[in-house]
Amino acid sequence: MSDIVSTKSPKILAIAEAQAIVQQYVRPLPPEPMPLSSAALGHVLAADVVSDLDMPPYHKSMMDGYAVRCADLPTGKGTLQVLEEITAGQVPSRAVEAGQASRIMTGAPLPPGADAVVIVERTRLSENNLVVIEDRPPKPGQNILPQGAEMKCGDIVLRAGAVLRPQEFGVLATIGRTTVLVHPSPRVAVLSTGDELVEPSERPQGGQIRNSNAALLTALVSQAGGTPRYLGIARDDPACLRPLICDGLKAHVLLLSGGVSAGKLDLVPGVLREAGVVAHFHKVEMKPGKPMFFGTYPRPGGGEPTLVFGLPGNPVSVLVCFELFVRPALRRLRGYADPGPHFVSAVLSEDFAYRTDRPTYHPAFLEWTTAGWRVRAVPWIGSADLRALTQANALVVFPPGDHGHRAGQVFEVLKLE
Ligand code: AMP
Ligand code: MG
Repeated sequence: MSDIVSTKSPKILAIAEAQAIVQQYVRPLPPEPMPLSSAALGHVLAADVVSDLDMPPYHKSMMDGYAVRCADLPTGKGTLQVLEEITAGQVPSRAVEAGQASRIMTGAPLPPGADAVVIVERTRLSENNLVVIEDRPPKPGQNILPQGAEMKCGDIVLRAGAVLRPQEFGVLATIGRTTVLVHPSPRVAVLSTGDELVEPSERPQGGQIRNSNAALLTALVSQAGGTPRYLGIARDDPACLRPLICDGLKAHVLLLSGGVSAGKLDLVPGVLREAGVVAHFHKVEMKPGKPMFFGTYPRPGGGEPTLVFGLPGNPVSVLVCFELFVRPALRRLRGYADPGPHFVSAVLSEDFAYRTDRPTYHPAFLEWTTAGWRVRAVPWIGSADLRALTQANALVVFPPGDHGHRAGQVFEVLKLE
């Protein structure tokens, strides 16, 4: 990929082109062992997992009843001698022979000789340890789960690439795996830039605003399965930016906000380049988020490069760029085969006139109805208006032009998590 050297006439990429460039530089992180605690939820297996046993480990009764021989009950009716009671966790001590049965509970091993279980509701215990059965003729295997029916010892039960959900946790527990090999959480450094910024705990003075992007980005990173590390606020001064950027380059991913546009103090791309970051694009044909920067930093010790995203300062730009570029990169680092983003087609539920010069990701409310997905644009005054996103659960994509969009038209929509 040719590097973009000049910021004077940078090529403005289409979104899909820019997404493809990012993906070209992302590889799943090298696998690490991880204990099977809730922290492993959502991680992706990096190796196949093989069962160490048959499941069930024995022919298992699936009902409470009597273990019988079908040959003894050709009509379904008969009286049998009860040998013993087998509850789950016990081992049968006697084989069932002609004219005999054993009381058996759900989960208990079938005794030798028996080939069916008659449910207790079709039986009556009488004198002298006899059981009277009145049922339809039993079929061999009835109410029995054969040994190894779910899995056999040596079977690959989970494949590399499987996402660990609660059901995978259960299967791993079944086969005694308490540690798994997974792609780890990417470490993501978050750096806010801007002379105007103060921390949320402070009261802004003249010309200042609170830093909302760090809170937004660290939350997005956590939600996307990354481990955020907030580096603080860098002043718009290369001497302040440089050491913080160098610190951030040690992470798998460095996210900066602000300082990437064409203003006098938009110093981020220059300082990144000085620090050794190779620029791959700077500007994408989208709204909000057009000035976005992406580069990679070849780690001195080798290994995969650090991914560097310079996000524009406005908070909605931050979120839109995160969803379109950063979240997919994090998914790929975490080993997900399909990085997304995933769009749904939705019907506009209300007329909406909108004029824009670029493909626009407009805050929207998406809902599932009996008629399928429906979406409406929520009121929004632009990239600084983060509050509008609190009324939104999606971004609807509007094409460039001066359009009177009509209810009933179909649009692509990106659901927000
Ligand atoms: P910039 O990309 O640095 O030109 O910033 C664009 C706009 O985003 C400016 O109005 C900034 O004040 C605002 N902005 C930049 N960083 C932040 C931040 N961390 N939190 C909230 N707003 C910000
Ligand atoms: Mg700035």
